[in-house]
Amino acid sequence: MTRGYWYCLYCEIELMPQHVTNDECCVECGHPVQWNSLEQHPKYGKWIKVNDELPIRDEYVLILMKTKEYFIGEYKGAYGWRFDDFTCNDREVLCWMPLPEPPEVEPDDV
Ligand SMILES: [Zn+2]
Repeated sequence: MTRGYWYCLYCEIELMPQHVTNDECCVECGHPVQWNSLEQHPKYGKWIKVNDELPIRDEYVLILMKTKEYFIGEYKGAYGWRFDDFTCNDREVLCWMPLPEPPEVEPDDV
């Protein structure tokens, strides 16, 4: 499954996985939900302030530091942010952005 998110067309909301039943219906209205790709998300390609929202733990994201340096790293919850061999806390990070979906090319095609 490609990276993305659950969306209910009837409730018109993004659903957390725990709000989707095993047969892929919305727990609120019972209608089937759809799996949207990350690119369809309204926040895709936009910087998200750490004060507004934090990434999912252990997910690799693009990080913009308050120093205006860019890194690709993981958000480690209470452990802060990790990139290369370096960790830092929320106070040093300004914004983050989800990484794009990898292209559908095989290494042999390149
Ligand atoms: Zn619904």
